[in-house]
Amino acid sequence: MKFCPRCPSFLDGKKWIYNEKLYQVVKKGRRVEKELCPGCERVERKMVEGIVSLKGKFLGKHRTEALNLIHHVAEKKRAKNVVARILSLKEDKDEIMVETTERTLAEKIGKEFEKAFSGHLEIHWLKKENFARVIWHRNT
Ligand SMILES: [Zn+2]
Repeated sequence: MKFCPRCPSFLDGKKWIYNEKLYQVVKKGRRVEKELCPGCERVERKMVEGIVSLKGKFLGKHRTEALNLIHHVAEKKRAKNVVARILSLKEDKDEIMVETTERTLAEKIGKEFEKAFSGHLEIHWLKKENFARVIWHRNT
């Protein structure tokens, strides 16, 4: 059985599963074969499929909530799809920039921001390249 050496995911048949609890349970008493999972591979190769820019004065006052929401969305997505990861997260005064290894994770972050905090959302797709540029802003 194959286990990722960098994150708690393992190959179950043909599907990689990201699950910390199961990883420990399944690993016990088995011959461990190491292989980088597709998610860690994308991180390693710095494959960017989505860029999210969250902007505006609103972020200055609600930074913790905003960061929590990003991490919550990323965790949920990763549990469903092992390749969906946050590659980088940069913070500035009124801005948070997130790079994702998977397109729909970037879209989801934008949509969840709109749902939770309203504001204005724009999503631009580069269809051929399977790439999304997501911009959300709110000032007040
Ligand atoms: Zn991994």
